[in-house]
Amino acid sequence: MDFGQYLQREIECACGRKHRIDCKYIFIEDGALARLPDVIAEGGFRRLLLIADENTHAAIDRISDESGSDTFDGSDGINDGSISAILQKSGFIQLANTVVSGDGYPNCLDDSEEAMSPHGESVSCEEINNGRYFYSVTLSSKTLLPDEEGIGGIVTAMLPGCDVIVAIGSGTLNDMCRFVSYKLGIPYIIVATAPSMDGYTSHVCAMITNRVKTTYYTHVPFAVIGDLGVLAAAPKELIAAGVGDVLGKYISLVEWQIAHLITDEYYCPFVASIVREALEKTRAAVSRLGKEDSSPTAITVLMEALVLSGMAMTMADTSRPASGSEHHLAHYWEMQALLTGAPAALHGAKVGVATLIILHLYQQVAAGEINLTQTRHRRFDEATYIQEIKVAYGSAAEAVIALERESQKNSDTAVTARIDCLKEHHDEIMTLISALPTADEISALLTAVGASLTISDINVSDELLTDSLRYAKEQRVRYGLLQMLYDCGWGKIEKV
Ligand SMILES: [Zn+2]
Ligand SMILES: [Zn+2]
Repeated sequence: MDFGQYLQREIECACGRKHRIDCKYIFIEDGALARLPDVIAEGGFRRLLLIADENTHAAIDRISDESGSDTFDGSDGINDGSISAILQKSGFIQLANTVVSGDGYPNCLDDSEEAMSPHGESVSCEEINNGRYFYSVTLSSKTLLPDEEGIGGIVTAMLPGCDVIVAIGSGTLNDMCRFVSYKLGIPYIIVATAPSMDGYTSHVCAMITNRVKTTYYTHVPFAVIGDLGVLAAAPKELIAAGVGDVLGKYISLVEWQIAHLITDEYYCPFVASIVREALEKTRAAVSRLGKEDSSPTAITVLMEALVLSGMAMTMADTSRPASGSEHHLAHYWEMQALLTGAPAALHGAKVGVATLIILHLYQQVAAGEINLTQTRHRRFDEATYIQEIKVAYGSAAEAVIALERESQKNSDTAVTARIDCLKEHHDEIMTLISALPTADEISALLTAVGASLTISDINVSDELLTDSLRYAKEQRVRYGLLQMLYDCGWGKIEKV
């Protein structure tokens, strides 16, 4: 598809806003890796930091080794087809990773000094200062976390004067490199290794600060390089996670519309239509994904859907088009895993399972088993609320309590106003809910790609599920099913 129609231009939208994506290039195609030197040249970048983890490095090396193209030809002494080789062929000098190897620090402020290449040869600082160089850092995927320590590791490894970060990876690496590059005021390029999540073109950055998942609004990459050979060879769980993240958009889109009706939240039909179209195309392509060999066309559809979802969040300047109650549950589970140190499943795997749970609940609403317009019989009691939030959120409780004090989203007045509005728009909202796919339909699609289906598949206990239905909505002020269930006093979350 032609991403150029959306990039680096102001779109005057009927919603009343101007939408803009500052990303310069998006390539999702066979052999996209070979475009990297041109992309770098276009940006005028000369001092590159390459960041990967062992897995993402292996993904690129594997595919480039298999490639017979000239770009990866090792005939001139560059013996692998990695990104390093591509860069060296285009005239970049590779410097040693001084932090890991302990070699001399190439602080090339003075042309008369010397730096080290990875093979121990010295490189003159004059050559570096006048030429173009890169150096490469491989992080450990086992301990990779987008927290203060992870960020510190990247900053520590940086050489002075670095003018672009080239990230080779997907979810976590993408977020970390986006965050660091934003803070340092330099661009980053993402070489995508898996169609596993929708963060490539989003400016929303999911970080962990003080062990709490925190969303930062940062910047979009200068370029996204999605080589189909690399993406199609990604582990099946990652492809399945990407499908889960996309299928959750059924809920995100409907809840965005409902929130627009009930809380007068900003809504853009144009942005919603971009996500909707990408979602339907992915649904149609699922039968060709997750097999031994996923079809390259289907991988393209999935990756495009993920990239378009990210763009939609950037355009709307909110994660709304791509994140609803299914993401609230997934984020709560992610946060609990962090607090307890439990191993966390892939983001998209959690979103897929959460999508099934939320769809089940919407089906109960559509069938009249849950009445969203009934009046809650309990009144909001702040002391009880604080007590429960402290248990549910642990060290993150203060921020959650402060949010409630500021927004008063659970106050009796706010609840009554929303219920009144819900009554007013009842038919419209029931039409939106009834148009959702059933949990069985989505379950069949997730099954086809071998995705997780149950909470036990993703290390979530029954107790954690119950807690998340009650408390996940407290992370943000964002109207969705969980808030609706609270507002109407639905029995299973009546406690708060
Ligand atoms: Zn718009
Ligand atoms: Zn997501």
